[in-house]
Amino acid sequence: MSTVPAYAAPSARAPLAPFTVDRRDPGPLDVAIDIVFCGVCHSDVHQARDEWGGSIFPMVPGHEIVGRVSRVGARVAEVKVGDLVGVGCLVDSCRECGQCRRDREQFCQRGPALTYNGTELDRKTPTYGGYSTQVVVTEKFVLRVPAGLDPAAAAPLLCAGITTYSPLRQWGCKAGDHVGVVGLGGLGHMAVKLASSMGAEVTMLSTSPAKEADARRLGAHGFASTRDDGIFKRLAGRFDLLVDTVSVPHDYNKYLGLLRPEGAMVLVGAPPEPSPFSSFALIMGNKRLAGSLIGGIAETQEMLDYCGAHRITADIEVIPIQKINEAYERMLKSDVRYRFVIDTASLKGA
Ligand SMILES: [Zn+2]
Ligand SMILES: [Zn+2]
Repeated sequence: MSTVPAYAAPSARAPLAPFTVDRRDPGPLDVAIDIVFCGVCHSDVHQARDEWGGSIFPMVPGHEIVGRVSRVGARVAEVKVGDLVGVGCLVDSCRECGQCRRDREQFCQRGPALTYNGTELDRKTPTYGGYSTQVVVTEKFVLRVPAGLDPAAAAPLLCAGITTYSPLRQWGCKAGDHVGVVGLGGLGHMAVKLASSMGAEVTMLSTSPAKEADARRLGAHGFASTRDDGIFKRLAGRFDLLVDTVSVPHDYNKYLGLLRPEGAMVLVGAPPEPSPFSSFALIMGNKRLAGSLIGGIAETQEMLDYCGAHRITADIEVIPIQKINEAYERMLKSDVRYRFVIDTASLKGA
């Protein structure tokens, strides 16, 4: 066992503060990783503040982990000491149930082991995330980070990247498709980059006209300010696919009107309150309203390889861990373009 520095939320109402975690010695199938960077996801804030309920404290958040392999167990086959690797939202699952067998570990019927704010499969040992200098993970849940990607800017791919890549793949995004991305934040900026790299004609739908130049720089071909109600008429029936990343309540019915018949709107943002919608918004045009949760391990690796081949990473601001509480406040004000990433070197001696 090694005791390593970390930052933790001691309770839902306290700021994050220095903490130490005990990492197990790697077993035969385990990989020990020296964490180099960890992205800061919106769900870190929600869970550290217990906004979804059931949070486990003290909590070390972080599920956008990139690091170097420092030790491997005797039966580890693919990963070697020194490899640049990633860990996303999951660190284990039963591997036997129907969902695990079809590579949907995120839906493991016995419940996957989440990277933090969860437990190992013994259902007792708490898991601690990437706001820390080291993590030990079973090999099957360790992902390869392609050479040529900046390790800091690759970290957000592990959650924001797969969250937006998966729905584009599930709904067959291809060259010439009209794709609308709703909301330009950590998720939205990845959705724009990925959809445009797949050859889609991408329109950013945002409440902030000030973000138009940024949206176009990221690869959007069009921009529509959703504060202007006229766009819901002008763009009615235009889109094959809408990827909705917004996590504050908004009227889904209006957005469904933007879809062509048989088009789909996929939710990856999660407003806390239920949102009413009219059946007619779906019936008139055989439209589909769907959701999507991260991706399985194989699909996450596919996404990383895709990003390696297309040189896609996140736009980031690197911070020392000591700025994490400030970063949470700035993130809540959308004052980040577009992801904070912690340089874990700042934890040494913290
Ligand atoms: Zn996340
Ligand atoms: Zn399972």
